[in-house]
Amino acid sequence: MYDIFLDKEQKNIKYRTREYVRNVPHDLLRKMDKEEIQYPKEYVQGLAKEGLLGVRFPKKYGGQGLNWVAEIAALEEIGVLGCSLACLYSLVSIIGEAINRFGNEEQKTKYLEPILKGKMFCAEALTEPRGGSDFFGATCLAEKKNGYFIVNGQKRFVVGSEGADVFLVYVKTAPKTSDPHQSISVLLIERDFGVEVKHVYGLMGSRGGGTGRLFFKDVEVPEENLIGKLNMGGLIFNQMMIPERMTSAGGAIGSGRAALEIAARYSTRRKAFGSPIMKYQGVSFKIADCITLLDAARCLVYSTARHIDANDGMNSGVIRRMVSQSKKFSTDANWQIINHAMQILGGIGYTNVYPIERLLRDARLTTIWTGTNEIMNLLIQHEYYKELQQIPEIEARDVEKDAVGAEYTEEKFFE
Ligand SMILES: Cc1cc2nc3c(=O)[nH]c(=O)nc-3n(C[C@H](O)[C@H](O)[C@H](O)COP(=O)(O)OP(=O)(O)OC[C@H]3O[C@@H](n4cnc5c(N)ncnc54)[C@H](O)[C@@H]3O)c2cc1C
Repeated sequence: MYDIFLDKEQKNIKYRTREYVRNVPHDLLRKMDKEEIQYPKEYVQGLAKEGLLGVRFPKKYGGQGLNWVAEIAALEEIGVLGCSLACLYSLVSIIGEAINRFGNEEQKTKYLEPILKGKMFCAEALTEPRGGSDFFGATCLAEKKNGYFIVNGQKRFVVGSEGADVFLVYVKTAPKTSDPHQSISVLLIERDFGVEVKHVYGLMGSRGGGTGRLFFKDVEVPEENLIGKLNMGGLIFNQMMIPERMTSAGGAIGSGRAALEIAARYSTRRKAFGSPIMKYQGVSFKIADCITLLDAARCLVYSTARHIDANDGMNSGVIRRMVSQSKKFSTDANWQIINHAMQILGGIGYTNVYPIERLLRDARLTTIWTGTNEIMNLLIQHEYYKELQQIPEIEARDVEKDAVGAEYTEEKFFE
């Protein structure tokens, strides 16, 4: 029914992605969860071969010249595979956004094109051991010297790092400036420049996606690998909030859909007290809640995608609010749906006989990464208060005056 949101080309991408996802080997997901695979290159290469990677980017670099609605339609399908595979798909969208929007022609040919063709693998490094939410507090330092940036510092929790050939890295280039918004730059750093990648910790979920720690020790990065202008990282990050958060939002819809379908089918077959458990309202009302949450998430995420497309893919105050709402609502909804699904399956849902427990471990991450849902709240209310000031009073009904006691203005104390 959601095809109503999609035109012919968008439907084509959705159903081709669905077909690709159907054929991803079950064993790949099992091995990734057991950490027998650290980075599934063939999966990314396969997506590229089918023309499903970075569908928003221009055809001349290997994209499909489509838009955000198309990418969300694809992401809903990809999300069925869980967090790691959805993230490896999304990294192309995220890193691609920076290169396509802010990079020069040479950088697009050298990096964007091979990334879209599955010939080069990429990762994004923003978070540091000292923190991820406080973006402008970054300490990973890059000093300009003789045509190079000399990079020192660490980044952590970098998905895809174990397989990546190139990293999009946010670095501090003006540590002494009084305005932190003008202190960060974005560099494309090839692994072969001397980046050390370490697999330091185990993860609760989202395994097999090559998450690791990056160490930079006097790494020499040629000046031409600067994306955009020097100290323009804040501006770039502002735009990057769209792909970072929309990819989380889109993927979460697919994951929630997978959990809901497993639980709903199970409830038609599993019997308790002589009846299929779907006959008990304790069960079927949970299914109703899941369907409603999923549809609400879809409506929000797709309408946000349309807003972004209508603004030529660029960020704005309203878009920032809607993107943050989409990320928060969709990932929270996914978490609730999977928990309901686990409850409906009873004890067997807690075992690895069904994939609900893996989806649940994955889903827990999505409320934390690409900006925590608390940070989403920060942005949502901030943008709304700004919008509120701009609502022209003359056009709106003064609802306050509908109160019976409206004339007691002296009772309206504010200080
Ligand atoms: C498996 C995994 C994969 C990841 N992948 C990547 C990746 O590929 N690239 C990358 O750069 N990063 C990645 N991240 C990092 C992720 O985006 C950060 O963990 C996240 O942004 C939070 O940063 P933090 O962990 O440093 O928590 P902190 O920033 O220390 O926050 C801790 C807590 O404080 C809350 N908090 C902080 N500030 C505020 C505030 N102002 N108001 C209210 N609450 C606040 C947060 O919501 C959170 O609950 C990944 C993380 C994980 C776990």
